[in-house]
Amino acid sequence: MKFIEQIYVDGAFVTPHGNERFDLFNPATEEKIGEARLGDGEDAGAAVAAAKRAFPAMRRTTVAERVSMLLALRDAVATRADALCAAMATEYGAPQSFLAFSVPHASKVFDVAAKTVADYAFRRRIGNADVVMEPVGVAAAITPWNSNIGFICTKLTTAVAAGTTIVIKPSELSAIQTQTLVEVLHEAGLPRGVLNVVNGYGHVVGADLSRHPHVAKVTFTGSTTTGRTILRTAAESFKRVTLELGGKGTQILLDDADLDRAIPHILASAFRNSGQACIAGTRLLVPQQRYEEVSARLADAVSALKVGPSSDPASDIGPMVSARQWERVQSYIRLGQQEGATLLVGGEGRPQGLDRGWFVRPTVFANVTNDMRIAREEIFGPVLSVLRYQDEDEAIAVANDTDYGLQSYVLGSDIERMRAVALRLEAGRVVINETPAYPQTPFGGFKHSGIGREFGPFGLEAFLEPKAIIG
Ligand code: NAD
Repeated sequence: MKFIEQIYVDGAFVTPHGNERFDLFNPATEEKIGEARLGDGEDAGAAVAAAKRAFPAMRRTTVAERVSMLLALRDAVATRADALCAAMATEYGAPQSFLAFSVPHASKVFDVAAKTVADYAFRRRIGNADVVMEPVGVAAAITPWNSNIGFICTKLTTAVAAGTTIVIKPSELSAIQTQTLVEVLHEAGLPRGVLNVVNGYGHVVGADLSRHPHVAKVTFTGSTTTGRTILRTAAESFKRVTLELGGKGTQILLDDADLDRAIPHILASAFRNSGQACIAGTRLLVPQQRYEEVSARLADAVSALKVGPSSDPASDIGPMVSARQWERVQSYIRLGQQEGATLLVGGEGRPQGLDRGWFVRPTVFANVTNDMRIAREEIFGPVLSVLRYQDEDEAIAVANDTDYGLQSYVLGSDIERMRAVALRLEAGRVVINETPAYPQTPFGGFKHSGIGREFGPFGLEAFLEPKAIIG
């Protein structure tokens, strides 16, 4: 049993003023594995005060100093990768394929930011003006549970690169991973107050940070509903806001696709991170003439996916993070049937042989139409909806007929044709045939999937203000 009694403020682990307890579970066994003592508004205030004290010195740091902080953070995370993977496996239950991506990614983001900041023009001349890009001021970050370590590292790295200080409120469901990570980050020896981390409830600590007068910038990753609340609260004091929100990624399979290549791509996009991924491509559009063939191939491929705990290297899909998330996914599997979609594979309940743990059956619905809620709403579990289309124009119209616009996918054989389709899609990213993204590529959503971008120069600029000195 792990008891997390402290939060991280002003360069030290301290006992919070808040004294509410939050139970932590292993989602693969449903056993209680720990407790976290949560911070409250007073703790949020103390963390913001520490970040504010540290800001003037951080603001004056040179690019070389920031690069060296970023590289120290990278090394700290890379050195303790095993401990971070273990925490993520126990508290989140991620399959090993996701662990193998996620923890190395968390250390890589510091490298990427170091390169971005080294190449970035913080001063430039426009006409008779000197334009100086200045750090925005104290930042607050609020993060979700589905890739806790990666999100904390991404937010921290951008703050350091920009020369500002940050208070992070991670998901209360990820306290063991957070504690392990913060112990690791502490080893990097950042100046006091540059990084502060306060465990706590969203409506308490998160809400306080979103309205705090000394916070200049809020960077949030989480649901669209919470993002809307944060945006409203932050508007009162004109905070700069980056919102990375929900998604209902569309995969368009073109009629010239080679299914031997495309089916593994479809599975990877739809079921990555056990379906608990904002970028999951959970709405598949298939041409009418290939619908039966694709459905049959998908049914076989998804039936062969292995559901199990993180400890089993053969597991493709792990448990849902909580009982609540398990119920949510079950309710959508029920809903799909009520709405008249055809259950191709999967269904309600646990997979055979798994009596405990928040495991769900990977599910594919066929004959889905775009007015059904399973085609429109983010389920955040391994549930794929398959729709049919007559021609490319219809596919694009259906793909764009959604409130979301985070990441879409095009699968086919003709690269020029796929690029032409990609240009017509309303999404922050369009991935062609599962091509991996270059690390500085901007990430973020159109429409209700968010505001702003992370990574590379676009991500950095979201933490900067241009100041023009004229004459
Ligand atoms: P969530 O919105 O419930 O919670 C996210 C964070 O916000 C948590 O730390 C929570 O405590 C906090 N929070 C809750 N209420 C708050 C409030 N009133 N004020 C301030 N903070 C508050 O989301 P979740 O369930 O943790 O994560 C899943 C969601 O995150 C999904 O919708 C998913 O698509 C989204 N997500 C988006 C991205 C992206 O990059 N676009 C990445 C991962 C997850």
